[in-house]
Amino acid sequence: MNRWFKNGINIKNVLVIVVCFIILPFLILPYLSNISVGFHENAHVEVGAEYGINLTYIPADLLTLIPETYQTLGKRISGIAEMTDEDKEMFCNLSYEQRRHIAMAGPISDIIISIYLSISMIFLIVIFVMNEQINQNKNWRSKIRIILSVLIVLLAFWLMQINGSTVLNLTDPCGDLDKIFNCRKCLGI
Ligand SMILES: [Zn+2]
Repeated sequence: MNRWFKNGINIKNVLVIVVCFIILPFLILPYLSNISVGFHENAHVEVGAEYGINLTYIPADLLTLIPETYQTLGKRISGIAEMTDEDKEMFCNLSYEQRRHIAMAGPISDIIISIYLSISMIFLIVIFVMNEQINQNKNWRSKIRIILSVLIVLLAFWLMQINGSTVLNLTDPCGDLDKIFNCRKCLGI
């Protein structure tokens, strides 16, 4: 930081920081969260099938994913698992334990992905520290530093998004948890 003020701000460094840590995560995050949403919804679909409930995962439109993600501020309007009125009726007629099994499959998938992402992040941070301490080639050291920093920032944003959506699913009216207790109201039947 001090060196920047002594030599004047280096425009190239500022551009690298803006592109790598603001623009890139902003553009890539919707696609990363779309992956975890896919696992979440498919977990509902798979467990639902065990009880004869047909949930259909409708993938999000990848072309409109970025504006949609930021317009709805994390509340998904596409890429969700849907079911017919008949299947909704069947779902609500299941026992409490069975409904809980289907409804909690999504948040459990989110928690498993969060654990994998956290382990990956720790792994990348260890490589980052090793690169700083061991790598003798200055040019390669700074290139690897930027690549690892971007990956760590992306993983951190992705983790925050998944954890945020898990909290919403467990606390929101008609989130995954509420659907177990207020099935008919939440599914509109
Ligand atoms: Zn869910």
